[in-house]
Amino acid sequence: MEVFRDIAPMRAFLAERRVGRSVALVPTMGALHEGHGACVRSAVEVRDSLPVVSIFINPTQFGPDEDLDAYPRSFDRDLDLCTSWGVEAVFAPRTSAMYPVPQTTWIDVGELTGVLCGATRPGHFRGVTTVVAKLLHIIEPDIAVFGQKDAQQALVIRRMLRQLEFGSRIVVVPIAREKDGLALSSRNAYLNEDQRKRAASIFSSLQCAGEMIARGERDPRRVEAATIDILTDAGLEPEYAELRGLPDLCALEQIEGGVILAVAARAGRTRLIDNRTFFVGGGRVEADALLFDDGAR
Ligand code: AMP
Repeated sequence: MEVFRDIAPMRAFLAERRVGRSVALVPTMGALHEGHGACVRSAVEVRDSLPVVSIFINPTQFGPDEDLDAYPRSFDRDLDLCTSWGVEAVFAPRTSAMYPVPQTTWIDVGELTGVLCGATRPGHFRGVTTVVAKLLHIIEPDIAVFGQKDAQQALVIRRMLRQLEFGSRIVVVPIAREKDGLALSSRNAYLNEDQRKRAASIFSSLQCAGEMIARGERDPRRVEAATIDILTDAGLEPEYAELRGLPDLCALEQIEGGVILAVAARAGRTRLIDNRTFFVGGGRVEADALLFDDGAR
């Protein structure tokens, strides 16, 4: 496995190796865990894959009061994990390589980015789409893999790829969870023992919501309120629990068709997100379907 810190050698490596192969990129911010592992495995499984992982803590997606400086870093361990997962190249650029001058050019996907996490993290998705666009221009992957854990991010990036005619196809992988259901996240490292226990209620709240929907509840407001109650009772501080329509994240009056229940809640100062998808129609409810399947393989 080769590690690149600068753009030109990364490009030169790919130019030499990519012939007859499918470059499959997994963009990450490092502090890797099995959730990233699920994305990487999906990249490795692509036929004739040349799997690449990028590790870059992107400053432009953090707000001024967010955890950029504290964000967990474990570079050596990340490289060991990438080796064990079968990654062929790691692109870990210095900030100065990705942002040689102050950034004034941005990609703004529009309405999709104004709700859920976009409502409380202004500028976040603009930073994400801009850095992902840069990574895609540098790596030119045939396939880019994203986790359903960051469902809104995956939807936003998919829209960017489509509207700007990027050549890459996007694959989304299911959420990898701890035994008690907590979605794996680099930010789980911030949690103390007590917060870690409370954090499991995020998944329980999503499960209860799923049971309500399965029992026939079709009023999104009631499901959202029940979800918020469970989070609050567990001592978490909910930021939102919202049911929205897929794939546009439109507001819902009625739970019907493809929907997502997305949650953000704080355990102490740590902000955690999670979600479940449901398909409701024809008298049945299907839970946890993939956010989208563009048939990339
Ligand atoms: P991050 O390093 O947190 O920016 O995540 C990099 C990629 O890994 C994103 O596409 C995430 O959605 C994905 N990812 C993170 N955690 C999980 C998880 N628990 N399950 C599946 N994918 C994940």
